[in-house]
Amino acid sequence: MLIDGAAIAKQFRAEVALRAAALNARGITPGLAVILVGDDPASAVYVRNKLRACVENGLHSVLERYDATMAQADLLARIEALNADPAIHGILVQMPLPRHLDAQRVIEAIAPAKDVDGFSVASAGRLLTGLPGLRPATPLGCMKLIQSTGIALRGKHAVVIGRSNTVGKPMALLLLQAHATVTVCHSATPDLALHTRQADIVVAAVGRRNTLIATMVKPGAVVIDVGINRDDAGKLCGDVDFAGVSQVAGWISPVPGGVGPMTIALLLANTLQAAEQAAAH
Ligand code: NAP
Repeated sequence: MLIDGAAIAKQFRAEVALRAAALNARGITPGLAVILVGDDPASAVYVRNKLRACVENGLHSVLERYDATMAQADLLARIEALNADPAIHGILVQMPLPRHLDAQRVIEAIAPAKDVDGFSVASAGRLLTGLPGLRPATPLGCMKLIQSTGIALRGKHAVVIGRSNTVGKPMALLLLQAHATVTVCHSATPDLALHTRQADIVVAAVGRRNTLIATMVKPGAVVIDVGINRDDAGKLCGDVDFAGVSQVAGWISPVPGGVGPMTIALLLANTLQAAEQAAAH
């Protein structure tokens, strides 16, 4: 069965819009500030989609766009200003940054309460220890997709392919928190299929097409495809051979129309969560 990320995200965004309206009624408009440094075309598209989603769902958004030559001190100063701005509840610095900027230092400059990407050490630590906090939107979106199948995660074997700080690792932690038995695979895993064949749930977050093919999947498994790649014809595709794997899997999310729309929906939800927290104080 297809996991229709676009439809699930739409539903999720409608819930976000309702919560935003409830805050609006109290005179608070949840606000997201997005900082874009440089002119990477893919980043510009991602940012545009995020800002449009804010407008459509009752959130206030601000785009701060800077030249690729921006100095680190100036960027840190802008983040400080946004940290202090009560109209802004979430701050997102679009990655990747130009090479002369220290991305980790920039992320750490964001106030933890406004870290809606959930990439800071503080947010990662809260996830690791199971404390409430802002979780990275992409793995959180994957969790929502898995939950949409109605399959209980407790006791299931989940295999995550990829161990990045932004997707693979937080994904593994969220699955662990949901009581799955978790295996994390990466580029040094000698026999990937050995692991994926035993998985009730596979999340592929590699960035290489055909990483997961039909013979690597247990019949009936839930397959979530995070990857964003291009095929030989230049068409968008994921890490999973969709045509083959969809014959074996019980549930599968497509690319496009799977994890992508959920990432945006969860970013909005995180901004709202940050605004609700701020309003409660
Ligand atoms: P990343 O930082 O490049 O990490 C890729 C991971 O895949 C690494 O942990 C790497 O292992 C592992 N890997 C590489 N080759 C492998 C192989 N042959 N077998 C098993 N594992 C392998 O990428 P990322 O930021 O996590 O993103 C992963 C993909 O998801 C990309 O295509 C990205 O564009 C996409 N993405 C999509 C969304 C969305 O909203 N849809 C959001 C974020 C990312 P090592 O650690 O050993 O190098």
